[in-house]
Amino acid sequence: MKILRTLTLRGPNYWSIRRTQLVILRLDLEDLAERPSNTIPGFYEGLTQALPSLVEHYCAPGYRGGFLQRVQEGTYMGHIVEHVALELQTLAGMSVGFGRTRQTADSGVYQVVFAYLDEKAGRYAGRAAVRLCQSIVETGSYSLSELEQDLQDLRELWADAALGPSTDVLVKEAEARNIPWMRLSARFMIQLGYGVHQKRIQATLSNLTGILGVELACDKEGTKKILRDAGIPVPRGTVIEYLDELEDAIDEVGGYPLVLKPLDGNHGRGITINVKSYEEAELAYDDASSASKTRRVIVERYYEGNDHRVLVVNGKLVAVAERVPAHVVGDGKSTIAELIEETNRDPNRGQGHDNILTRIEIDRNSMNLLDRQGYTLDSVPRKGERCMLRATANLSTGGIAIDRTDEIHPENIWLAERVVKTIGLDIAGIDIVTSDISRPLRETDSVIVEVNAAPGFRMHAAPSHGLPRNIAAPVMDMLFPPGKPSRVPIFALTGTNGKTTTTRLTAHIMKHTGKVVGYTTTDGTYIGNYLVESGDNTGPQSAELILKDPTVEIAVLETARGGILRSGLAFDCSDVGVVLNVAADHLGLGDINTIEQMAQVKAVVAETVKPDGYAVLNADDPLVSAMAERLKCNVAYFSMEADNQVVKRHTSKGGIAAIYENGDLLILKGEWKMRISKAVEIPMTLKGMAPFMIANALAASLAAFVHGVSLDQIRAALSTFEASSSQTPGRMNLFEIGDYSALIDYAHNAHSYKALGEFVKNWPGERIGVVGGPGDRRDEDFMLLGELSAEIFDRVIVKEDDDTRGRPRGDAADWIAKGIEKSDRPCKYEIILNETDAVNTALDSAPKESLVVILPETVSRALRLIESRLPSKN
Ligand code: ATP
Ligand code: ATP
Ligand code: MG
Ligand code: MG
Repeated sequence: MKILRTLTLRGPNYWSIRRTQLVILRLDLEDLAERPSNTIPGFYEGLTQALPSLVEHYCAPGYRGGFLQRVQEGTYMGHIVEHVALELQTLAGMSVGFGRTRQTADSGVYQVVFAYLDEKAGRYAGRAAVRLCQSIVETGSYSLSELEQDLQDLRELWADAALGPSTDVLVKEAEARNIPWMRLSARFMIQLGYGVHQKRIQATLSNLTGILGVELACDKEGTKKILRDAGIPVPRGTVIEYLDELEDAIDEVGGYPLVLKPLDGNHGRGITINVKSYEEAELAYDDASSASKTRRVIVERYYEGNDHRVLVVNGKLVAVAERVPAHVVGDGKSTIAELIEETNRDPNRGQGHDNILTRIEIDRNSMNLLDRQGYTLDSVPRKGERCMLRATANLSTGGIAIDRTDEIHPENIWLAERVVKTIGLDIAGIDIVTSDISRPLRETDSVIVEVNAAPGFRMHAAPSHGLPRNIAAPVMDMLFPPGKPSRVPIFALTGTNGKTTTTRLTAHIMKHTGKVVGYTTTDGTYIGNYLVESGDNTGPQSAELILKDPTVEIAVLETARGGILRSGLAFDCSDVGVVLNVAADHLGLGDINTIEQMAQVKAVVAETVKPDGYAVLNADDPLVSAMAERLKCNVAYFSMEADNQVVKRHTSKGGIAAIYENGDLLILKGEWKMRISKAVEIPMTLKGMAPFMIANALAASLAAFVHGVSLDQIRAALSTFEASSSQTPGRMNLFEIGDYSALIDYAHNAHSYKALGEFVKNWPGERIGVVGGPGDRRDEDFMLLGELSAEIFDRVIVKEDDDTRGRPRGDAADWIAKGIEKSDRPCKYEIILNETDAVNTALDSAPKESLVVILPETVSRALRLIESRLPSKN
């Protein structure tokens, strides 16, 4: 067995609209192609021994043990690899269940599709599954140690990929509200929403968090001063830089007990509390000073009481947790060391911030503390006796949290909200030391120790005791107040031909609504009137660029088959999905061999339209109009025929459509007929002579109309959109060169040749074609191009692309020539492989009134050749 190729899908795709995270292995079974599982001695036994939990896979039979039954009866190795890849991930804590296995056109080669939660882990599971199956085929078993190693690696990949606990809580709330999110490439930032409506978070900082508030909160002394000025109770204290200031400082704050901590610390590092003597103070000073970047140390009075964390979001208190420092409780038998070990066995305790709780670790602080309580690690505390291991209550040093949200006194709520406003933060955690949070702070001589920017959420979302609180909801309410959008409208366009033209036209119409339109095409990515990036930008990365852009108000995305197959769509749903046509092109690529399969690829664009959005479908193309059956969204049809039956049925039920009738482009809405424009008034249709351009105009107009754009705006946009070399380079660009004309067009498959032919046939003079196509098409495709050229043109020059995409030079041209000769209407032709020479020969020999049609590899080069012949514009 050999993996030929691995694809990672990240959005709605050919295999599934809903299951967006899939790995696809192209797997060559090699010698196992002819050996179903029941013919491999010992395979069933080896597999069930290695992975007994496969019994849980129902598979086609639909009951427990169903899959194993298939293995016993005989199934192919691709199918088994799929199930093993799913099971390995599940065993490593990533529960996944979706999979498919399909044969490809190459014998013995399968597509194995399975879900993942983390893509690296998914790909790893695929490789491991192949290894495991191979080993069982060859040796009858897969060693337990290897399996353990695989699972360990998978668990690590999963842990590495996981979001931090606070981010995770926020992202889950976003998902629950149907707010899209994506990771940005730097600083662990997450984007919520799209385009102009996007917001950002980084852990619990938001793009609304002000830098002044954060800096003030990070400066503990500054915070205390500002709060004290506002009459808010804070610890009495001072800041020192050198040890010889310590004695005076102690006097100044009123003697022992004391707390010493770094001026700029966090997570409880370098803090000693309840310092009762000068000796202790000196040690505490060293700790604090070395934990501080500025070597400055806070000396303050120690306040009796428990640690409370109060979370305030957008001006409102949302949760209160009491934090209890790391400790163990004696059972009368175990030593402290054993009790710690026992506590750390809790699966909720992880490393650092990566789980609900953190494992307790023993450091010098803990040893000192034990010493003061009269213990060592080997002491055996009495049953029920609490033995403290940390002085500070941070969860990250092993503490636990108890929810106290319902207990806090109203005056303390008022105070906390005032504190956070005073510091100036949108999301803040206040540390309060008090013996009783249900009484006003001033009655209990309690203090606010500090205010934290970017407070952790896990103690509130998953307290060790008490009710979990949804603290992410108020954050989302703040970022996206009820009724405010998080998404921008998305128009996705696909089809075999006309995508770029229709995308550009749709973008042009949407610009007429006064909005900033971001759009992607085969020529490049654009925002407003500017090019962001040139090149073929019809895949998910380019779409993502648009959706990440903070100025974009509307996205119009050419969505080509390549990107859909390679990684799926970049978005989970669209507002308008346009499918122009499905024709035989790109067949044989990406394991898509039939036009029906290709229709299914393109249908992804229609199937991802949101329920109240519209799929705009070509009623003249049966493969496209048939897509309507499976759609849950609204449908609107366009057609070049006034009496198209699909349209008739649709509008008789009140549906919306766009048709071409007697030289007019019309919108139909139930019984109503509204004129968009006459075709001759739309420059891109070349005076109404290019039927496929009329079809593209219908599709774009309809897409805009169903989205609520007025007919006036659509009309105005159509009248200013030209098939000029500047607005749509390479799409029906017509030039008058002295007494003859030249057309540059990008037709490169049979369907677009035919469409082009409909226009060329209308030309009164001689018609000369300069033709060729990309080398990765099939031989028969080139033949067909030749045949069609012979039908369309009076004379043909066959040329080739510079990039033959793997074909021997001259091969594609020969196939085209064969096609010309095969035609019922064979025409004169010659082969000039070099495109520049071919174009120049055609132009040099063009008679009066003739039309030279150039189908170039690179549009810009052909444009230059023509422009050099244009009469100078002065
Ligand atoms: P974190 O980052 O977790 O908030 P930190 O390193 O910023 O911690 P502080 O919040 O200033 O440190 O102090 C940590 C804990 O030490 C407090 O939550 C409180 O329990 C205790 N503490 C700090 N100062 C005092 C004080 N003056 N009196 C009593 N306890 C104190
Ligand atoms: P690509 O797959 O290369 O991105 P595309 O789908 O974006 O192509 P366009 O670039 O708009 O299509 O047009 C390419 C060529 O296809 C045009 O120059 C024209 O010859 C032909 N064409 C355009 N629209 C249609 C249509 N609706 N039906 C058939 N052919 C068309
Ligand atoms: Mg603190
Ligand atoms: Mg295109």
